[in-house]
Amino acid sequence: MSTTRRQFLHTSTAAALGSSSGWWPPAHGQETTAEPAASTPTESPRFDLGIASGSPTAHSIVLWTRLTGDGLPPRVEVRWELAHDESFKRIAARGIETAEAAWAHSVHAQPRGLAPGRWYWYRFQALGERSVTGRTRTAPLAASGATAPLRFAIASCQRYDAGHYAAWRDVAAQNLDLVMFLGDYIYEGASRSSFPRRHEGGDARTLATYRARYATYKRDPLLQAAHASAPWLMVWDDHEVDNDYAGLQDSHLDADFAARRAAAYQAYWEHMPFPHSARPRLDVPGGAMRITGRLDWGTLARIHLLDDRQYRDPQVCPRPGQGGSNTVTAANCPALLDPRRTLLGTEQERWLAEGWDLRRPWNLVAQQTLMARHSWTDTADGSAGLGGTYWSDGWDGYPLSRNRLLGTVAERRVPGVVVLGGDVHAHVVADLKADFDRPESPTVATEFCGTSITSHGRPQELLDMARSFNPHVQWSRSDRRGCMLFTLDAKQLQVALRAVDDVNDPASAVRTSASFVVEAGRPGAVSA
Ligand code: FE
Ligand code: CA
Repeated sequence: MSTTRRQFLHTSTAAALGSSSGWWPPAHGQETTAEPAASTPTESPRFDLGIASGSPTAHSIVLWTRLTGDGLPPRVEVRWELAHDESFKRIAARGIETAEAAWAHSVHAQPRGLAPGRWYWYRFQALGERSVTGRTRTAPLAASGATAPLRFAIASCQRYDAGHYAAWRDVAAQNLDLVMFLGDYIYEGASRSSFPRRHEGGDARTLATYRARYATYKRDPLLQAAHASAPWLMVWDDHEVDNDYAGLQDSHLDADFAARRAAAYQAYWEHMPFPHSARPRLDVPGGAMRITGRLDWGTLARIHLLDDRQYRDPQVCPRPGQGGSNTVTAANCPALLDPRRTLLGTEQERWLAEGWDLRRPWNLVAQQTLMARHSWTDTADGSAGLGGTYWSDGWDGYPLSRNRLLGTVAERRVPGVVVLGGDVHAHVVADLKADFDRPESPTVATEFCGTSITSHGRPQELLDMARSFNPHVQWSRSDRRGCMLFTLDAKQLQVALRAVDDVNDPASAVRTSASFVVEAGRPGAVSA
């Protein structure tokens, strides 16, 4: 027991990372450095993939782990404990979950009846071993009065073999209330020889190979520290399954894509802190897993979580004989302006339109990709209805779907809409306009799209060249990896764009490269 006990002390998140007094307001150039040792819970082979918590509500939280190692029986009892204190003197809840081989020995415990707006600590025990300790919390209730500021991060696109996770050390050190992961948790492809780390094997295509890919990612100690530091909200994008997939179609038009998607969805659920109620249905082609959801955060905000992969129409005007993304113009692709095309699916579009919060000051939209129009050429090029050149995989490939969403926001005067995204491997700050062709038209919402944790970006010169075609874009930098940190209160949203000095160095410093503020009732970001 003494080894386990020592390990617990050494690897508990707060001990490993030091107790931070918070990161706001970070002066420009403030940095986090490598000196606190990250937790390395590899002493326990059964809990080699770490722990996580997520999907919080005011009264419950999902606690996750997955057992590993040789000779695991088909069913293993796993004890979990949730406490009010880090030393587990005051237990709030405890229980036993059965980890089954059929679901990769994953555990998704869901203590209920918890107090709102509270911090908790949790850990697991199985087969004579104990996991590290994680820190988590429940959401506050509006009924409890004014809500303390919400501090959260957004992150996306953590291609393991493309770099190291210094950005996750930065996130873990902030002691945040929430981490929102906005897609591309894994990349399904094989590694390139020029990359600093290795994906095991070739393309992930089967349940076994997706599970192996998640295990590679989950063994990273800095990612484990970020999971152990706060509850996560998660949405997926394409690479959790296959690049550029749309619904039941992949970019190669493979006949067996449905089976591949079902395997990928299963592996995703197995490795993420989603509740049992979110477990994918495997009796329908492609599997079905609902990640769309909503979380109310006290009196401050409603958080909407969207799925822009599972229900979308295929990308418009693909290359001959293929599916997937393309670069398109309205002149050469009239279907771009087909009003029936949707990125969210009709049902999810309606769900969002009916669920905007008109009482709280903020509506945060956690979704996958850049929503602001981003043309790669001059939009005054004379093509009918819509000028410019667009990448068809993002919102730009579904412009009328975007118009419907922003139209509802403008019409109903939805307060404080802030769209959060990833996917484009660049920090982008943008005003979301009622009419992107008229820069003087009202700004109806604000967008913060975070750069990748590691995945490579497009050349910065391309983004610089495109700036004049997109005057509503205030900031676009693809040359830095990192994340974004936010502090939200009833009056304003403060945002720090965090940038890693050297993505090839796990000990790299992480700095604030720019800061913005959004005032409640005044859509649009202001440089701070
Ligand atoms: Fe990505
Ligand atoms: Ca993506």
